[in-house]
Amino acid sequence: MKILLHVCCGPCSLYPVVSLKEQGVEPVGFFFNPNIHPFRELERRIEALEAVSSALDFPVIWDTGGYGLASWLSALDGRFDMVSRCPVCYRLRLEETARRARQMNIPVISSTLLYSRYQRHELILETGRSVAKAYGLDFYYEDFRKGWQQGIDASIELGIYRQPYCGCVFSEAERYSKRIDRLMNRLASSSHEHAGSIKEM
Ligand code: SF4
Repeated sequence: MKILLHVCCGPCSLYPVVSLKEQGVEPVGFFFNPNIHPFRELERRIEALEAVSSALDFPVIWDTGGYGLASWLSALDGRFDMVSRCPVCYRLRLEETARRARQMNIPVISSTLLYSRYQRHELILETGRSVAKAYGLDFYYEDFRKGWQQGIDASIELGIYRQPYCGCVFSEAERYSKRIDRLMNRLASSSHEHAGSIKEM
């Protein structure tokens, strides 16, 4: 059986690809992630997935439609908070996967997003099932989170880039929120001291 497997990144694809192959399933990867910003980050994640693709002999179809920042922001239509934006982001990516699967006559889709412990697992499953149904496809579900450590070990062994945040600029800001606060506090206190020393002059 062939599956069009939406791939979010290299590290998250390692365990699902191995697991699917062990079950006799033939995964074909589809990299469509307009949610990854900025461009240099996208480039690093693509390079990591290229390494996985070659190490596991795993074919990947690449989205070649360009850097998706503007289209992704426009799909959000101002819904920037985490609760509202992630459902839009999942649907956008899984719907494109379903569309591509139809074009390629692949009857089943799935996603490596189901590997991450940090993603909204139930929502991904629900969205995947819903888009697959709308396109007359099946959605393959497996709780890939069970291979969490195995995937981490494999990515370290391969020496690929492991990203520190989900993908969008908002998730980057959330990831570093404490650091941003610390920086702002430091700048505020140094501005304060500076203003004090100017007054004394
Ligand atoms: S946090 Fe991740 S899933 Fe949510 S909108 Fe950003 S990139 Fe998409």
